[in-house]
Amino acid sequence: MNRRQIVEAFARFRAANAHPRGELRHSSPFELLVAVILSAQATDKGVNLATEGLFAVANTPETMLALGEEGLKGHIKTIGLFNSKAANILATCRLLVERHGGEVPRDREALEALPGVGRKTANVVLNTAFGEPTIAVDTHIFRVANRTGMAPGKTPLAVEQRLLKVVPAEYRLHAHHWLILHGRYVCTARQPRCGECPIEDLCDYGRGSGRRGPAESTSGRVGRTRSAGRA
Ligand code: SF4
Repeated sequence: MNRRQIVEAFARFRAANAHPRGELRHSSPFELLVAVILSAQATDKGVNLATEGLFAVANTPETMLALGEEGLKGHIKTIGLFNSKAANILATCRLLVERHGGEVPRDREALEALPGVGRKTANVVLNTAFGEPTIAVDTHIFRVANRTGMAPGKTPLAVEQRLLKVVPAEYRLHAHHWLILHGRYVCTARQPRCGECPIEDLCDYGRGSGRRGPAESTSGRVGRTRSAGRA
């Protein structure tokens, strides 16, 4: 995709959905942080089912700590890797209380210092909770960026850096959600729905080049990993 095509693609995304939203339910930066930690190797739907009950009884670091490990596990046991996720969430809550007055910091370095929080999670929190124009490259965005030719790259970080260069400033705040939703519902992993795609005429793959970028050859390298470590 060239620059004109990228600008046009985002204009179409915006025309179709001016205010895209993520699908993890939350009502505070803390709830979002916990939901994103839980979302590794899990669906947003599954996380939402678990957090509905969890946040009703614990939606601050202090109340989460009061719930304790067994209490927390009772709410999230339907989610994969719940043992290590529970440990990470409680360790994160301790640090939030000790270092940040119980608040989620609006700072990349401070966020990435929290257990279970890596660059991708920090980007989601900075973007969705604090309105920073960051782009968290998950498996969907990695695939879309490579397949379309919008921002090819061999690693999530390379794709993120390329996207930050090529996405026009006016679209950067919502680019994260537009690309995730596009990858989740249209440009799907196994069978992209090119016939229904609003940017088919702009996309390298849709226009028939059949390019196979790293998204076709790096399954497992990107996105959800089998560990509940940094995400
Ligand atoms: S045309 Fe096909 S490959 Fe290109 S973005 Fe649309 S769904 Fe994905």
